[in-house]
Amino acid sequence: MNTTNTTNISMSPKLFKEIIGQDKAITFLKRIIAGDTIAPAYLFTGIQGIGKTTTAMAFALLINCMDPVDGDGCKRCSSCKKMIDGNHPDLIIIEPDKNKKGIGINQIREINRHLAFSPALERYRIIIVDPAEKMTDEAANAFLKALEEPPPHNIFILNVRDPGELLLTIVSRCQKVPFKPLPIEAIVNWLIKEENMDKEKAEIVAKLSEGSLGRAIKLSKDGLFTNRVHWITMLNNVINKSSDMLIDLARELSGFGKSSAANKEIKDDNIALMLGIWKSWYRDILFFKLEGQIGLMLNSDLSNHLKNVSALYTVEALMRSLAVIARAEHDLMDNRNALLLLERSLLGLKRAVKGSYV
Ligand SMILES: [Zn+2]
Repeated sequence: MNTTNTTNISMSPKLFKEIIGQDKAITFLKRIIAGDTIAPAYLFTGIQGIGKTTTAMAFALLINCMDPVDGDGCKRCSSCKKMIDGNHPDLIIIEPDKNKKGIGINQIREINRHLAFSPALERYRIIIVDPAEKMTDEAANAFLKALEEPPPHNIFILNVRDPGELLLTIVSRCQKVPFKPLPIEAIVNWLIKEENMDKEKAEIVAKLSEGSLGRAIKLSKDGLFTNRVHWITMLNNVINKSSDMLIDLARELSGFGKSSAANKEIKDDNIALMLGIWKSWYRDILFFKLEGQIGLMLNSDLSNHLKNVSALYTVEALMRSLAVIARAEHDLMDNRNALLLLERSLLGLKRAVKGSYV
């Protein structure tokens, strides 16, 4: 495997049959391999953590396998073994650099150097860009040139949350393969089986994951599930704090995991989880106020607490608060400064309830 990212996350390929909840995409990919109707470029679309990268790897495994078994790579032939060992010469993964600055033009130039030669093992070269929306403008334009005239036996797979974040000229040259958020039930079962989680906790984590297995795994690890209560309590106090106190709080929150090992990506992931939890909490209160019941609550274990605080908010205040969080999530994805983003959000959340605070 060639990867332009020195962090090199371990990505031992899985088989299609090990991937949950993406049957439609997988059936499609198996069919094009079986029918030899392979396009030069595919766009895997959908939110993070639902199996796009895993599926791309299973595809790379199968298409280069010398002896496929039941529509999957055999994991035994020389190609499969190289892929499992992470040293297949025809698998190239382009990821943002360590500091999450994006995918730069030098990384795209490296692809072009590979394209000048046929695949080393005389089958298919798979180039995965993950996530494609992280390409800088310069990189995206250089990439477009590679897509315009791809040499045969090269297949591009671009992972993207939303095709609207890519150049239209790139999107139009790719065949779209949509990935759907996973059913809650599938995530519950996975958490019980793979993480030995009890059913009640698995159901809460699965509902909070918004259909993303990756998010569910993060929520179930490292005390993040416990942090949820802390984050929600903090949120209820925001409206009583002065602006100065909120700015201090933003500083504290943006410095998650101050150890030197903690990089920007981990901090941003934590902030994304916190924003997701805040969103779930406001949604729960909103639902309770509109429907007068708690049956569909995401944070179902905190129903008493919710009843106690729901009187503090009007429906309008909750809608404004959700809009503040939506903007913060958007800014975070755009790689904006975490401290400024949190300062603005906390002040915005306070303003959202001001005037309608009972
Ligand atoms: Zn094989």
